[in-house]
Amino acid sequence: MAGQRPTTDLLAAANNVVDAAERLVVLTGAGISTDSGIPDFRGPNGLWTKNPAAEKASNIEHYLSDPQVRAAAWQNRLHTPAWTAEPNAGHRAIVEVERQGKLHALVTQNIDGLHQKAGNDPDRVIEVHGTVWWTRCWDCDDRRTMADALDRVRSGETDPPCLVCGGILKSDTISFGQALVPDVIDRALRVSEDCDVLLAVGSTLSVFPVANCVPRAKAAGARVVIVNGDATAMDQYADVLLTGRIGDILPALVA
Ligand SMILES: [Zn+2]
Repeated sequence: MAGQRPTTDLLAAANNVVDAAERLVVLTGAGISTDSGIPDFRGPNGLWTKNPAAEKASNIEHYLSDPQVRAAAWQNRLHTPAWTAEPNAGHRAIVEVERQGKLHALVTQNIDGLHQKAGNDPDRVIEVHGTVWWTRCWDCDDRRTMADALDRVRSGETDPPCLVCGGILKSDTISFGQALVPDVIDRALRVSEDCDVLLAVGSTLSVFPVANCVPRAKAAGARVVIVNGDATAMDQYADVLLTGRIGDILPALVA
């Protein structure tokens, strides 16, 4: 499926929809970052598909209860692909949409920070699953840059505690088994109800509640364009459905 290309007619139809947008909301998932070398979790070559034990280790209960799980997590964080990954043509296409003055908001399930690195205004980026670029204390909510914590790990701390209260630190991401941040998901749903076009890119649209952005937008009268390598759980809502390589399709969409 990922190798197929949408027809010229479909591309033109999607291009017309995006071109006419005045308040575009873009919703992105792991598929937009795989070209940057960031592996996804649940895809055919996903981290958790190939190694189910890693999914278990990422569970928040294990993380909070087992210092060894945390020590292993800190070692993994030293080598997170996001530190060196560069934005790709898909990310740059969304920056172009913002430059054209069309972008109302960018809702992302990704935690890699590549939209901001590509040049999107951080104030418009809604990270529903958090970010690896910050740490948060589980007890007092103190938030600091990940770089500070990684410096402490390199200096020999296997499980660096919160500098304010001594509590458990983790990346400011939503782990498996952890609740979403209500204000963040509310904002994502609100902007979706307030857009004239919703463009979903690189997401299977099967993780809730963020997948609800699509029917919410549709019910509010927006047109929906879906771009993905494979079928999604929300294809029935699409006015235009484009299946193929995101890095090829997105630049053509915004040209
Ligand atoms: Zn703390």
